[in-house]
Amino acid sequence: MTHRRFPVWQSATFLLGFGLGLLWLERRVPLRSYREPKGKRLGRNLVMSGLNALTVSTVEMPIIGSLSKQVELRRWGLVQRLSLARWAKDLLSVMLLDYTLFVWHVLTHRNHWLWRLHQVHHADLDLDASTALRFHFVEMVVSVPWRAAQVLVIGVSPRALSLWQRLLMASILFHHSNVRLPLRFERALSWFVMTPRLHGIHHSSEPALRDTNWSSGLALWDILHGTRKADVPQETIRIGIEGFTQPEQVRLGHMLSLPFARDSESPGQTEPAARLEQG
Ligand SMILES: [Zn+2]
Repeated sequence: MTHRRFPVWQSATFLLGFGLGLLWLERRVPLRSYREPKGKRLGRNLVMSGLNALTVSTVEMPIIGSLSKQVELRRWGLVQRLSLARWAKDLLSVMLLDYTLFVWHVLTHRNHWLWRLHQVHHADLDLDASTALRFHFVEMVVSVPWRAAQVLVIGVSPRALSLWQRLLMASILFHHSNVRLPLRFERALSWFVMTPRLHGIHHSSEPALRDTNWSSGLALWDILHGTRKADVPQETIRIGIEGFTQPEQVRLGHMLSLPFARDSESPGQTEPAARLEQG
C-alpha cells in the first residue's frame, strides 16, 4: 500500500512563510502590549521550542509514525472500518484528532500532574507566536500514549496524520500570535477556528477565564461544550499564571524545573484542587 504524504519541503516552506508573515504582522499591528523585553523572552521560548522539537522528532514521531502505518495496513480503528472515500476518511480523522486534542488539553488543566507540566506553557508573561511552541519537553513525552491512543482508536493513516500535524502547526502559530486582526473579521472567523483574541482569554491568569476557549483548531468543540468565550476585552487580560507575575520568576531554568518544584514553591499548582472545590 502506498502512503502518499504531503511533501515535507512544501509544508516546511509554507509554515516558514506563514510564521514569518505572523512575525511581521505582530510588529506592525500588535494586539496586546508586551510586559517582558522581547529579546530575552524570545531566546527562552526558542530554547524551549528546540527541546520540544528534539523530543517530538526522537520520541513521538518514530512511535506514532510507525503506529499509523500499522493502523492503515491492518485497518485498525474507527475510520479504517468505514467504507468512505479516502478524502472523507482523512477529513474525519483530522476532525476526530482535533476533538481528542481538545479533550487532552482540558485534562492537562484538570489533572494535578499534567497541569504541573502544562502550566509552563501558560507561565509566559506575554503571548505571541513564540508561545505556540513553548511547552515543557516532558509534556511532549507524557502526551505520547494519548497520541498513540488517538491514532489507534480513530484509525489515523500516515497521510491523515501528516495533514493534521501541518494544519495544527499553522493553527497554533496563528491563535497564539499577537496579531490585531480587524474586529469584524475575527468575530466571524472565531465561529469557525480558534483566533488570537479568543485564545488570549484562555491564557488569562484568571482561572475562570482559563477554563474557556480550549480548542487548538475548530471552534466547534468549544461551542458544543459551552466553553466559547468572546466578551473579554484584551486590555483587561493579564497573561500568565497566578504567582508568576515578574520576569525574574519565569527565567529558563525556573521554567524547566517548575514541574518538579514542591507545591509550596509552585503557586499556580493550587489550580486543579481549587477547581474541584468549586465543583
Ligand atoms: Zn491551556
